[in-house]
Amino acid sequence: MDRYGAGVQLRYNYRLYPTPGQQIALARAFGCARVVFNDGLRARREAREQDLPYISDAELSRQVITLAKATPERAWLGEVSAVVLQQALADLNTAYRNFFASVSGKRKGRALAPPRYRSRKDNRQAIRFTKNSRFKVLDNGRLRLPKIGELQVRWSRPLPSAPSSVTVVRDAAGRYFASFVVTTQQDETLPPVDSEVGIDLGLTHFAVLSDGTKVTAPRFLRRAARKLKRLQRALSRKQKGSNRRRKAVVKVARAHARVADTRRDWQHKLSTAIIRENQAVYVEDLCVAGLGRTRLAKSVHDAGWAAFTAMLEYKAARYGRTFGRVDRFLPSTRMCSACGGTNEKMALSVRAWDCPCGAAHDRDVNAALNVLAAGRAESRNDRGARVRPPAMAAPRDEAVTHPDAARTPRSVEGISALQSGEDVKTSRTACTR
Ligand SMILES: [Zn+2]
Repeated sequence: MDRYGAGVQLRYNYRLYPTPGQQIALARAFGCARVVFNDGLRARREAREQDLPYISDAELSRQVITLAKATPERAWLGEVSAVVLQQALADLNTAYRNFFASVSGKRKGRALAPPRYRSRKDNRQAIRFTKNSRFKVLDNGRLRLPKIGELQVRWSRPLPSAPSSVTVVRDAAGRYFASFVVTTQQDETLPPVDSEVGIDLGLTHFAVLSDGTKVTAPRFLRRAARKLKRLQRALSRKQKGSNRRRKAVVKVARAHARVADTRRDWQHKLSTAIIRENQAVYVEDLCVAGLGRTRLAKSVHDAGWAAFTAMLEYKAARYGRTFGRVDRFLPSTRMCSACGGTNEKMALSVRAWDCPCGAAHDRDVNAALNVLAAGRAESRNDRGARVRPPAMAAPRDEAVTHPDAARTPRSVEGISALQSGEDVKTSRTACTR
């Protein structure tokens, strides 16, 4: 039985190998989707500047797709699937709705900016085909996309059921991917366990758990990140517009994609292990945490932390565990998890402290214990800590896609295996930019 009725939406990503001709057709579709998105955005901005009412979704679609196709300037929009154009507008409408919800305070988290124009120079180009575009996975394993053709796919693992949509992405490294959304209906609830855990965004670690586990990014990931830094420095020294710079840009993009893939694989293993071993998982809310944190910690971990907690959230929903984000208004690092008393401000270098009540604390573990306590209190009050998760990347437990990830048995065997003396000792190097 699924607690959300409709099932959990998961993403399944595969590498695509379009022929040169298909690459041209895809480039055309990316371009048309971008033009429709930008035309829609311009129309709404102009209406606003002239104090005219907000243009409705239906009216916007009529203006920038249906009517535009009939003009000589936009006649070429007819060369791509109409669904691709409609989905580009759907993205724009969603961006507007999120922005309005953020402004009105209905949407939690960081304040959102209004939608921005898309550029040909954006690192990531994407188009989406929904069911009614009649995209199809053929018996010969190819993916048929309307007005693009039949594309070769590397099926690194099977699709569990018929997808409801597919997004075709071209990344900064020039690679193509198909990202399918699949709704899982089967019951994957795990047998209940007793332990609950609070997780703190560590200063010198990627994450610190209330049970004392300190998790540091594995060595191969730190090494890859250092290499990326080096390439970025090399790029900044190259002259603008030069051939060498263009080559360096591609190199950086490739290294960047590699680091991102490796980090995602590692985070999938870590989040699965944490969800399996605990009945309830509480994390600090990132935007609140940011207020009381140093710039150093934020810059090092922010991006990774957001993706990681999103994984915990959807896996908790999928496997029948409790997940909660904790708003913390208290200085949790200074608050004693034993007596609740607040102590004096501490320098970053203070890793351990003693409370007048007699409790001896590790700074980060104490903070994680406070997250756990706040999470338990909130879930008892039932303040709606649980929300329906968005469509997220499916875990890659069976299919390790990165060669480096396959070489680290440490990260497959659960959280305890992720805690190793060597990693803890060398954690400092990982966290100083
Ligand atoms: Zn105390």
